Amino acid sequence: MTASLLTFAKGGVHPPESKEITEHLAIEKMPLPAQVEIPLLQHFGAPCQPLVNKKDRVEEGDLIGQVQGLGANVHASITGTVTNVGTSIGPTSLNIPSVTIDRDTEAPDKIYTPSDWRGLSPQELLQKIKDGGIVGIGGAGFPAHVKLSPPPDAKVDTLVLNGAECEPYLTCDHRVMLEKPEEVVEGAKILLHVLGIKDCYIGVESNKNDAIDALRKTIEQQKLDGVKIQVSPLKVKYPQGSEKQLIESTTGRKVPGGGLPFDVGVIVQNVGTAKAVFDAVVLNKPLYEKVITISGRGISRPANLQVRIGTRIRDIVEYLGGTKADLAKIVMGGPMMGFAVSSLDIPVTKTCSGILFLTRDEIDEQPYGPCIRCGWCVEACPMGLSPNEIGLYVEAGRAADTAPFGVFDCFECGSCAFVCPAKRPLVQFIRLAKQKARK
Ligand code: SF4
Ligand code: SF4
Repeated sequence: MTASLLTFAKGGVHPPESKEITEHLAIEKMPLPAQVEIPLLQHFGAPCQPLVNKKDRVEEGDLIGQVQGLGANVHASITGTVTNVGTSIGPTSLNIPSVTIDRDTEAPDKIYTPSDWRGLSPQELLQKIKDGGIVGIGGAGFPAHVKLSPPPDAKVDTLVLNGAECEPYLTCDHRVMLEKPEEVVEGAKILLHVLGIKDCYIGVESNKNDAIDALRKTIEQQKLDGVKIQVSPLKVKYPQGSEKQLIESTTGRKVPGGGLPFDVGVIVQNVGTAKAVFDAVVLNKPLYEKVITISGRGISRPANLQVRIGTRIRDIVEYLGGTKADLAKIVMGGPMMGFAVSSLDIPVTKTCSGILFLTRDEIDEQPYGPCIRCGWCVEACPMGLSPNEIGLYVEAGRAADTAPFGVFDCFECGSCAFVCPAKRPLVQFIRLAKQKARK
């Protein structure tokens, strides 16, 4: 397989994978928590309008937040009584509108019956995806129905499913591809039908060969109805799963600076999103639960956990037997692009792919020093930027002048900071530079 591994040309790094902690653990369903706190903003766009009031009874799957403009619907993740319509905290915000539901412990499990989608038009399928509140669950939560409606002059001919899962520690996409390949492939077929195209590549890093085999076997066994779905084994290199790099690796096409995937005829969705599309279309089940990885040496029992949206970190920690004494940092997402969190009250959202409990040995706490002009960050940057220059400008109080260094092409992958021998906080510098340059 090594000879045919695909990759992107520029930059990239090889952080320790640390996937061995959870990659062999089958998906486990977490028992329902007594209470959930469901944010009404779990997507790129505006918060949803709450449709419920305190003391209302809601059933699992009921619409509780209506999309307004750009966004995605939000649904009740458990059956019970609304006990608050207020705000909750997230990794990067303190005041997110949210709905709190106390569980009815007597409520039966909701049963979903599959239906055939083949008689539905692309518009009807798109409406189901919109109604189901589907977002890109591997990234910023861009509403799927919007991404699947490119401008009429965009000549989209290829769908790329992102199964790279290049962030260290995370293994939830791996387990979904391995344990539910039929649903991922069926989701891909639905997405192709919505887009009116026939070609799909599923990009998977070659450290998940069992998932590659499972997907290939499923594709061989299924009726493909005239579409072509291929699995593309990718070289293990971070950030293989970022949109532009994945498009280059799987199709050879390069998205121009400042451009979007549809500029080169491609739409990218995560494999987990394809599974969520399957749920919304075939089962009529909205997106209110997902598989996330709980890992790091600081949690008593790591797991790939199927949890309801709105479950607090605190309840997950309790279910998994608590944290260890040498826990030093909790990160929501992967270690390269995730956010450190300071409260166990933060709830799981549609875009959360994992929660890491890291010990002192797993994090780098050294103070940073001056740039020694080694150029390693420039070599590592997959976008061909000069993060060293951006950092120096920020330190010199000239953050607003960094646009010529392509600061807006930076997608904050952290490769530059990872290789920097002076431990410079280059991503934080870049975030600041973006804010100032935008103004
Ligand atoms: S964080 Fe930005 S500047 Fe740094 S390597 Fe990634 S894309 Fe390049
Ligand atoms: S890697 Fe760090 S020390 Fe080296 S040039 Fe980049 S910012 Fe400077």
